[in-house]
Amino acid sequence: MSNKRDYYEVLGVSKNADESEIKRAYRKLALKYHPDKNPGDASAEEKFKEAAEAYEVLSNPEKKAQYDRFGHAGMGGAGGFGGGMNMDDIFSQFGDIFGGAFGGSFGGSRGGSRVVKGTNLRVKMKLTLDEISGGVKKKIKVNKLVQADGVTFKSCPTCQGTGRITRVAQTFLGAMQTQSACHVCQGAGKSIDKKPADADAQGLRKQEEIIEIEIPAGVEDGMQLSVRGKGNAGPFNGAPGDLIVVIEEVAHDELRREGENLHYDAFLHFTDAVLGASIEVPTVGGKVKIKVDAGTQSGKVLRLRGKGLPSVQRYGTGDLFVHLHVYTPTNVSKEEKVILEKLRDSENFDPYKAQKDKSFFSRMRDIFS
Ligand SMILES: [Zn+2]
Repeated sequence: MSNKRDYYEVLGVSKNADESEIKRAYRKLALKYHPDKNPGDASAEEKFKEAAEAYEVLSNPEKKAQYDRFGHAGMGGAGGFGGGMNMDDIFSQFGDIFGGAFGGSFGGSRGGSRVVKGTNLRVKMKLTLDEISGGVKKKIKVNKLVQADGVTFKSCPTCQGTGRITRVAQTFLGAMQTQSACHVCQGAGKSIDKKPADADAQGLRKQEEIIEIEIPAGVEDGMQLSVRGKGNAGPFNGAPGDLIVVIEEVAHDELRREGENLHYDAFLHFTDAVLGASIEVPTVGGKVKIKVDAGTQSGKVLRLRGKGLPSVQRYGTGDLFVHLHVYTPTNVSKEEKVILEKLRDSENFDPYKAQKDKSFFSRMRDIFS
């Protein structure tokens, strides 16, 4: 599915790397591949972006957990989601990495105001196991912020349209000029000149929109998919935020999910367990018939390969485990009782007499453990 490199590999850190290690590794790569140091070098720019994206995920505990669990698929790399970071995203990350003093020098060398990003929009999406099994396209209605018609802009009076505020700070290296994004226009360099009555202070208004989302097969409860650019519009004609889709799995009536595997509890007719039978079991693709051998013990588990759910990272498909339980009647008629009393005396019904082979019982204990 994805030819993306592993984020840990990109930063050259181990999976156990802590926050400061990740930060250090990224800082090194960002300095090495910074566009100002490698003018016109497309491969350096690619590496710069790749490192920024890896850092963006691994430095955020929530995103990191998501990535550790689901890989790139969890980051919205699969089916219709995706896209990397743009340069504005990357440079806005720098204040955090290099501290105010260094952030300023990078921001300054880029020059000009920046694009302000809209906020992310979060929606919950309920999915059945059937939908999860095959992947599904869904249309959802969202109420999101869009640019209102008739809004006009003027230069931000606080930063004179530069989007940046310059200060001189005393650091251990001496007096340094630092720059930060203008707090009034968030760095856009613009302010609202005229706006219609229904627009908010940023010139945005709510609007309903139908968005079609393609959900990849194998997603799990709690997983978040981000659809880039489908969130709220950015103020001052900025870039839109993302739409975050939070998956909610609807419990199946009969099947239990455990990662990619499914489990089903089948209750066997006592006679079927003794004589053997064909029974029906539910799967996500519909009912299937399976054979139960004569002499089946309660607790036996049958494994139906490939009848589980596909891996969201496309590593294959899980299995369906059918747990067989022999049903013991709780009510018997007088006639049935007579028959059972006769069977009580048969050696075939006495486990210890019938099983001369003592290893039988240890094998049974293995089944239950
Ligand atoms: Zn401003």
